[in-house]
Amino acid sequence: MHDSICCIPDCKAKPYAPAGTRSVCKDHFLNFLTWRRRRGPQMFHKYAAMTMTERDTIAAEWIKTIRMDEVPAATKSHP
Ligand SMILES: [Zn+2]
Repeated sequence: MHDSICCIPDCKAKPYAPAGTRSVCKDHFLNFLTWRRRRGPQMFHKYAAMTMTERDTIAAEWIKTIRMDEVPAATKSHP
């Protein structure tokens, strides 16, 4: 973990856990967990057996699915 902020664009939260070779904040990590669970137990086990570099592919796939309206309210600035 060498990142100082979450690797998700526009998220400035502190890194909480790794997603591949990068780091994400707690909210995004939980979002990533949910996304993997939704893809079924096979994906969950497959991911667990992967190396960090292989996980990058999965994380990249997930990042593409993140929409700005799904960003947790706490990380958004008030208008
Ligand atoms: Zn984040």
